[in-house]
Amino acid sequence: MRRPRLGEHVAARRHLVGGAEHIVLYDTRGDGAACVGAREWALLQGADGTRDLDGILAAAARRGRRAGKRQLAEFLAALETAGMVVEGRDPARPPVRAASDPAAGMASEAACRPLRPLEGYRLRCDGSGTCCRLYPTTLLAPVEVARARALCPDMLSGGEDAERAFTPERGPTMRGAACTAMVDGRCAYLDANRLCLLHGAGGPQAKPAGCRLFPRVFVDDGESVRISVLPECACVLASVGRPGGEPLVPAGARTRADLDPAALVSVLPERIGLGAGRAAQRAEYCRWEALLGELLREGAPDIPDRLWSLARAAEEAGLGEREAAAAWRAPAPLAGEVVASWIEALGVRAGRFERRDAKWRAAQDMALHAARWVGAACARLLAQGEPFPPAAAPAAEAFYLRALLHGGRLAFAPALGAALRDRAVRLLVARALPAQIAREPAGPADPALGQPLALVEALLRGHGLEDYAADLSGRVASATFPLPGPASKR
Ligand code: SF4
Repeated sequence: MRRPRLGEHVAARRHLVGGAEHIVLYDTRGDGAACVGAREWALLQGADGTRDLDGILAAAARRGRRAGKRQLAEFLAALETAGMVVEGRDPARPPVRAASDPAAGMASEAACRPLRPLEGYRLRCDGSGTCCRLYPTTLLAPVEVARARALCPDMLSGGEDAERAFTPERGPTMRGAACTAMVDGRCAYLDANRLCLLHGAGGPQAKPAGCRLFPRVFVDDGESVRISVLPECACVLASVGRPGGEPLVPAGARTRADLDPAALVSVLPERIGLGAGRAAQRAEYCRWEALLGELLREGAPDIPDRLWSLARAAEEAGLGEREAAAAWRAPAPLAGEVVASWIEALGVRAGRFERRDAKWRAAQDMALHAARWVGAACARLLAQGEPFPPAAAPAAEAFYLRALLHGGRLAFAPALGAALRDRAVRLLVARALPAQIAREPAGPADPALGQPLALVEALLRGHGLEDYAADLSGRVASATFPLPGPASKR
């Protein structure tokens, strides 16, 4: 290659494990990854598509890393074979949105949409740092990087050189958002007492926007901006029905313009794919969501059966009220063989993740444990067969569905039918998880393990395992989910 470049689809993440430094290169177009050392990363930082091999070696030498030309050529050739290195300069990237820019992302006609937070819900963060040790990425806008470096200059010597504490969001060069290093499976800024050093040094506003706003999720449905929660942290589910906690929007906030400017507000699609060639308009979908909200109030002892029946009804008859209500109130029993193929696909994904990441993750890494438990839970469900385990926490499962609906989460999947089945599988796997966790020598003492469903959710979205549905054949394979790869808290 004449002027090689680390592809913009590659996300480099720094992991320090027992003091040893690894850079993990994630191919965000699939689940490929490669682990390289600090010297190799210095070479890749120079491989920006403008330099030839000699130029790359000179750039790495300025970073104090030396290598031979032949070594470099072989290294780049190996990454080229893996699809991570390409030739020439990258296309221009859109400007990075500054978290402090009040006009960022604010469409004028949407600015006065009223806010509709999830009714009756308040969040009680348990302060145990669960969300800071589950995700592969904590993303910071450039101004947030500057603030973190100023507040905690000694963190991995980041005050002196940002490249020691951060890696670019994508590609080889730091020219926009950046990601913190992970130390023994946790965000580098999480201290030994599981407290955020940035929060401690500068107050809550010093944290990156993604951390400040987590687990809130914002969706504009055309009439209002709904605020819900991602059910991906134990404290989100543990907050249900408990007194105290904080509201999802600040007191006095009435419209979208009152939200934190850094809040990412998704827009509910105008047209929602249902699967089997069907689609629904947004208004129809919103009525269906509202109907499910009403039906949930009737009580639902077995939500997976209902989700599976709703999926079939949506694919066969659309989102009609009568069909949806019938599917909910009189669900057909889960078809064991079909469900089994979904569970098996998820188990395979979890096993692949565990085998791949065990090479560079710390023994105490929560994501690694979660993948092992999910894989084992899938195997257990398959071995036991029907009937699947009943809900141990029906209120948490009902809240889970309510939060998903209010946050419009099902509408963003390519097909609603597949999204409903996927969520049914997650519930079943979460039900089987406590038996695996109980086998751990330390037991379920860690607060992160108190809500297995949250663990499943964080693993699937955060680490790209939700793409498992794409591994299923024919009918289901058409319903691919968002690309895997390291996701941040939001
Ligand atoms: S920066 Fe965010 S992820 Fe890191 S410790 Fe602070 S709150 Fe947690």
